[in-house]
Amino acid sequence: MKTINDFNFKDKKALVRVDFNVPQDSELKVTDNTRIQAVKPTIDKILNDGGAVILMTHLGRPKGKISEEFSLKNILPEIEKVLEKPVKFCSDCVGEKAKKMTGELQGGEILLLENLRFHKEEELGDAIFAKQLAGLGDAYVNDAFGTAHRAHASTAIIADNFPSTKFFGLLMAKELEAIDKVLKSGDKPITAILGGSKVSSKITIIENMLPAIDNLIIGGGMAFTFIRALGGDIGNSLVEVDKQTLALEILQKAKVQNVKVYLPVDSIIADDFNNEAERKEVDIFEIPDGWMGLDAGVRSRKIFHDVIMNSRTILWNGPIGVFEMSNFADGTIALGESIAKATRLGAFSLVGGGDSVAFVKQFGYDEKVSYVSTGGGAMLESLEGMELPGVKAINS
Ligand code: AMP
Repeated sequence: MKTINDFNFKDKKALVRVDFNVPQDSELKVTDNTRIQAVKPTIDKILNDGGAVILMTHLGRPKGKISEEFSLKNILPEIEKVLEKPVKFCSDCVGEKAKKMTGELQGGEILLLENLRFHKEEELGDAIFAKQLAGLGDAYVNDAFGTAHRAHASTAIIADNFPSTKFFGLLMAKELEAIDKVLKSGDKPITAILGGSKVSSKITIIENMLPAIDNLIIGGGMAFTFIRALGGDIGNSLVEVDKQTLALEILQKAKVQNVKVYLPVDSIIADDFNNEAERKEVDIFEIPDGWMGLDAGVRSRKIFHDVIMNSRTILWNGPIGVFEMSNFADGTIALGESIAKATRLGAFSLVGGGDSVAFVKQFGYDEKVSYVSTGGGAMLESLEGMELPGVKAINS
């Protein structure tokens, strides 16, 4: 893997694609700056070498049109705060102004280009637009893991213009190494924990991971499709009726590949999809009509705990209950505790993909696992075994 550590940026202008697609409140203030913090080491390394940094990012979905709402001016103060340095701003990412401002940039300075997606060519992966961007710098660095699954002008196409001076940033390298640990080089036993709502969205991940893992824990809403396929009564629990055969096929494939599958054995059920609903704990095969399983039961939590404590490498994607409702969050909290404990005792744990990342941050487990991925879609596509366009562009 060719990273920025393989290059001295002294007197060079590095075009760094970052993912500053940060959440904002109604006054457009940044509410979570994780994505900015995550690329600071890359920026610092280039500046410390004596190079200049030209930051490129998108924000939101302006769909090819200029708009105040999606202007990076709104997040500039937060970027300066996190990077602890002044950051110059150019009101367009290409054109005369961009050429002039990047031309005048000195070693040790940072310039932020305006939202790439103000130009429709960005998302179209337009080669001419990519070339215009490329003309602004001497080297290309991709540190935008969150956008690496898109073949956009600035994430992939641009790299063709830098055959020998294109590099992974340090965040990208860390993300790719973490995934590699789970899929290729992790210490065994390796356990994948998949939860969330739908089995249909996780099938490719499961199939791709089976050859690499020893244990598969299936929880959350998606478990009920398996339980029903195995003949259980699941009441009104979430189910994908047309995926039952597939669920059985997955169990069969796991068996052939010597992967132990752990499904919940009990469930906290509710008579309504509502935090204040009536609750009770039952065997997962015996959910009465009119009730739905919204969290893992105590016995399931114990089984999952034991598997996790015996694992050396752990991947977690998806909550195992409706954690957004406090009365159904305990199963996912217990799971977070188990993973935190295993990590403390030396296991490597990776949390990735959408809701589980939101969960670990909300409940403070982000500091207690080995690595929390910053890229939802990119992480999931990597687990599905796809080579991300942003990764391929640097590697090829
Ligand atoms: P996903 O986006 O597929 O990872 O699903 C995440 C969502 O699954 C979260 O919003 C959870 O509330 C939801 N979820 C987890 N367990 C259940 C369940 N037993 N029933 C319904 N939804 C669930």
